[in-house]
Amino acid sequence: MFYFDPMYFVFALPGLALALWAQFMVRSTFARYAKVPTSSGITGAGVAELFMERTGLRFGVARIPGMLTDNYNPGNKTLNLSQSSVQNSVASVAVVAHEFGHALQDAQNYMPLRLRGAIVPAVNLGAWVGPLLFFIGLFFNHYDLAVAGLVAFAATAVFAIVTLPVELNASNRAMQLLASNGVLAGEELVGARKVLNAAAFTYVAAVAQSLLTLLYYVSILGGRRQN
Ligand SMILES: [Zn+2]
Repeated sequence: MFYFDPMYFVFALPGLALALWAQFMVRSTFARYAKVPTSSGITGAGVAELFMERTGLRFGVARIPGMLTDNYNPGNKTLNLSQSSVQNSVASVAVVAHEFGHALQDAQNYMPLRLRGAIVPAVNLGAWVGPLLFFIGLFFNHYDLAVAGLVAFAATAVFAIVTLPVELNASNRAMQLLASNGVLAGEELVGARKVLNAAAFTYVAAVAQSLLTLLYYVSILGGRRQN
């Protein structure tokens, strides 16, 4: 009966609450600056075109459904722009510039991006095999199996940590591109930074959440060992 475990409230629940709060912050900050048009009149989609021109970097641009679902896919070299990012707003422009930052990372073989890509299969496997082994190990009082599950699950924490430099670096590149190309100025740059900082905080929250979940598992295991 893990749901009544007080340790859940000590470790896992604060991590979950932090992640939900970060989600709320990114949505509200985006909504706020989605209402602020850029003085240059440029749209998010226009920024992708402009930066390709200025940097000489070429890749495909596709439209995808949803809000804030934007991403750059290094696999097929495509920048996927969501419905919320093609508009003329400080928020749209900031998000597209951030994704362009990922495209630059890809073009320049930015090491943390490569590392993150390389560990994805292990992370995907560990995310479901880890908890499975862990609870099977607990159920059958097989301590080593539970530890193996814990180690496999730890891959998700490693992924969250490696994601941090990738995301912060993409946002720094975005701010430099926006300023040096005269896309945004003054208060607009401050707004773009707030949007990107809110997004960055979701990744910090993800690190905290995965580490706290890991600690929760460790606490369960520690309690079992004493029994
Ligand atoms: Zn990103």
